[in-house]
Amino acid sequence: MSIFNEAQKYIVGGVNSPVRAFKSVGGEPPFIEKGKAQYIWDIEGKKYLDYIQSWGPLIFGHCDQTIEEAIIEAVKKGVSFGAPTKVEVDLAKEVLELFPHLDLIRFVNSGTEATMSAIRLARGYTGKDDIIKFEGCYHGHSDSLLVSAGSGAATFGVPSSPGVPADFTKHTLLAKYNDIDSVKQCFEKGDVGCVIIEPIAGNMSLVPADKEFLGELRELCDHYGAVLIFDEVMSGFRASLRGSYDVYGIKADMVTFGKVIGGGMPVGAFAGKKEIMEKLSPVGPVYQAGTLSGNPVAMSAGLATIKKLKSNPEIYKNLEDKAKKLMSGFDKVSKENQIDFNYNVIGSMFGFFFNPKLPKNFDEVNESDTKRYAAFHNKMLKEGFYFAPSAYETGFICTPMTDEDIQNTIDTYSKIAKEI
Ligand SMILES: *Cc1c(COP(=O)(O)O)cnc(C)c1O
Repeated sequence: MSIFNEAQKYIVGGVNSPVRAFKSVGGEPPFIEKGKAQYIWDIEGKKYLDYIQSWGPLIFGHCDQTIEEAIIEAVKKGVSFGAPTKVEVDLAKEVLELFPHLDLIRFVNSGTEATMSAIRLARGYTGKDDIIKFEGCYHGHSDSLLVSAGSGAATFGVPSSPGVPADFTKHTLLAKYNDIDSVKQCFEKGDVGCVIIEPIAGNMSLVPADKEFLGELRELCDHYGAVLIFDEVMSGFRASLRGSYDVYGIKADMVTFGKVIGGGMPVGAFAGKKEIMEKLSPVGPVYQAGTLSGNPVAMSAGLATIKKLKSNPEIYKNLEDKAKKLMSGFDKVSKENQIDFNYNVIGSMFGFFFNPKLPKNFDEVNESDTKRYAAFHNKMLKEGFYFAPSAYETGFICTPMTDEDIQNTIDTYSKIAKEI
């Protein structure tokens, strides 16, 4: 019996997060034994070049020495106290120093918690219940964010999962990404307290917002007195050191973080302007708490990561060059094989579409050929290249990846392209 079959006897679907089950690409997921730098090995000893990197966090690759040492040192002092520690202050300082428009931060344990808490705070601050989110953006699995469009965009959301009462999603308005008119319609329809968006959307493959669109979104939020939340759980410290801020220069009222900020340990955070953040308990009335929040081991991993990024800011250019090399190589191979292909690269993030046009929103992303992606995924995995098991995910370059790794990936795609 395969370990995946055994896993399914004890763990629902054999996995602790659904995408890992390979449902949208078929086949069985390899069970991972260990990782080192840009590589992982499964329990059968097969080696893969890892373009997932734990879905983003490991920008320096697996078992980076600096981060590993920070974690070990922290573990030796005790894994958890549920009391304040200095490392939380150190990480808070390092993060806030990067963003002149963010005054205060709160650490939590996941991206889901960060966005859920940020929205509660924004609602508490404005006293308005309705929120706007965008089709194709993912902000974790809290109830009010698990919505799909009722009948097209600019409608109040209907739950996208059983178990979420319609009453919980009736305050969530859905707008279309990169379409400011759909946002205007939402503002006119509801009493909107906040807008949450991935300024660089990484959960419908990679679709960056247009700069003009984000600028207009900022103006609309100011006009209506709504809190603008940038969800940078994925793009933070990944698209660039300051996430979307370096790319667009647009200041959100609140920003949520996750993934890289924990260096591979479970950390999320939300930060914002003082007047908003001071509405949070224990200073203000909006409740939020966590037994393991600000955990010293997780904070130490995050601190080592952020410090290393800040002292090596040139890595982003390097990572982007590699991502571009990979994507332009794939583009060339695709053209040679009459495969419709388009791509985006921002910093260490890349996303590609088997689609004749470059998508700007979720509807257009959905026109991509996901069957072809599944075939691509299966064949590349067999050859030892670990891409996301879904066409709707972003790929990641880590610092240990070499030009040779990239070239091998392109050559392998060239070899299998005729079969997809
Ligand atoms: C991953 C992700 C989340 C959810 O974070 P978890 O740690 O998985 O709960 C939220 N928002 C964005 C943009 C993400 O990419």
